Amino acid sequence: MDSKDPRSAGNEVCPECDSDQWKSARLVYQSNTSSTESSGTANTAGVGLGSGGVGAGGARTWSKSEESSQSILAAQVEPPEQPSQPKGKGWYTGWGWFWIVLAIIWIGSFQWINIVAGIIAGLVGMSYVRGAEVKANESVQRYEEAMQKYTKLDTAWKRTRICMRCGETYLGPPLKS
Ligand SMILES: [Zn+2]
Repeated sequence: MDSKDPRSAGNEVCPECDSDQWKSARLVYQSNTSSTESSGTANTAGVGLGSGGVGAGGARTWSKSEESSQSILAAQVEPPEQPSQPKGKGWYTGWGWFWIVLAIIWIGSFQWINIVAGIIAGLVGMSYVRGAEVKANESVQRYEEAMQKYTKLDTAWKRTRICMRCGETYLGPPLKS
């Protein structure tokens, strides 16, 4: 093997330009979000991006201070959004009762338009109270599916590297956190 080839040295290199100068997406994200540390030191040189944009093809050059392009990079390095917790049976029951109470108030006003609205609200409320368990199970199911997707995205995100030479993003082996 040719020892000058960075690939044979066991280094991770950019698939575009073979540069072994990279930053992890996580590191770039963290230094982007901590605003006070973004003064012009050498290791923030990779934070700005040229007009080509990451992955958009064409000329991709790094520069220090292009504010508008920072958001392009931020989108690339942003971690995936964690799914929100599933809602329990109690939440759906409470939500149902909220509508039932509203229904009672509306119907009690003895104005026909409010009575119509009250009947609808009452039916909605009862469907939530009666279906609370089913809805809660569905919510858990949705959460688990979203979690699976999230875990995959998060694993990929933790492996995402950004080439400091050409701006290519690529996956490397997992980093120790
Ligand atoms: Zn590169």
